[in-house]
Amino acid sequence: MGDKTGIEWTEATWNPVVGCSIKSPGCTNCYAMGEAARLERMGGKGGAKYAGLTKPSKAGPVWTGTVRLHQDALGQPLRWARPRRIFVNSMSDLFHEDMPFEAIDRVFVVMALAGQHTFQVLTKRSAKMREYMAGFSWERAVESCRGPHGVSVIPRFSIDALRGAFGMRPRFSHERDRSALPLPNVWLGVSVEDQSRAVERVFDLEATPAAVRFLSLEPSLGPVDLRRVDDGESVLDALGGTLSVEGRGTTRCARLDWVIVGGESGPKARPMHPSWARSLRDQCAETGIPFLFKQWGEWTPTQQPAPGGDLGGAMRADRVRIVKPAGENDGHFRRGDVLMERVGKRAAGRLLDGVLHDGSPTRRNSAEGD
Ligand code: SF4
Repeated sequence: MGDKTGIEWTEATWNPVVGCSIKSPGCTNCYAMGEAARLERMGGKGGAKYAGLTKPSKAGPVWTGTVRLHQDALGQPLRWARPRRIFVNSMSDLFHEDMPFEAIDRVFVVMALAGQHTFQVLTKRSAKMREYMAGFSWERAVESCRGPHGVSVIPRFSIDALRGAFGMRPRFSHERDRSALPLPNVWLGVSVEDQSRAVERVFDLEATPAAVRFLSLEPSLGPVDLRRVDDGESVLDALGGTLSVEGRGTTRCARLDWVIVGGESGPKARPMHPSWARSLRDQCAETGIPFLFKQWGEWTPTQQPAPGGDLGGAMRADRVRIVKPAGENDGHFRRGDVLMERVGKRAAGRLLDGVLHDGSPTRRNSAEGD
């Protein structure tokens, strides 16, 4: 299976887990849902991997909710000698509610063994990620790699070799210590589409041990203030790295290492107000956090009407929409609103106010390859 990808912030995709279910509004036009159905229709070995994950509906294919670890894909990164950045599970969510810790353990063991690569794990299930990482141990992870008859399910590594690599018996001189935590080559991120999902997920990310923590705001569906993520009891400045709890003052905490922003693509894409991306760009610039503007998506700002001007011509065109800074649309064009035109992802491009933003965290993984 090919690992190539057009995703701007990674170099390869690896899908040891397939299948998913809708979690929040950012999932409404899930690309993976349509892609899983298309791959199943293609048949063959590739099609079998995606069998039963989606079912037809009037609106197109929808997830059935089946999620599974694909054993054949598990060892794939171990076969890739050239180091690369790998997006883990572009076709699923590793921390899906129905994914047992045992299966997630197997994925983490492979990531630890394939130290030549940098793995980028992105989830909308931040609470499960936090719980998983809080309870993580190499003893459990290695036990999770026992398949039928007690034999290791990890290609090229016996259970005894895994026990050596992860410090459960004295290592032989030829064995490398792979037991670092957090894993230096695993970046953990959450996907957030608006402020309420930022509140739901960014606190979890901040509390999750990770070498690099990142945030993907794609599709961006509303304004997000990362310097003030307020859950009613605490206020997190996720970019400045402070946490203020009422009555307990302000303490330092982990800050985000990377922010990615993008508009939605695909036939049913929703437009992004330019102020949402500009605000995040400026928040990152203020705090020195790397910022990547991935794309406008299908829609781009078009010629704006003069204040009080006639909108008739523009609005008769099906491909023009009013987008409001707060996200809701009442059909009237007011101060601060923007007209967005559907021009297609390629034409819309990825320049924000004429500038390419391609920020990225410096790679902290110093592990040598196999
Ligand atoms: S979590 Fe990701 S893969 Fe799952 S439905 Fe949402 S967008 Fe799709």
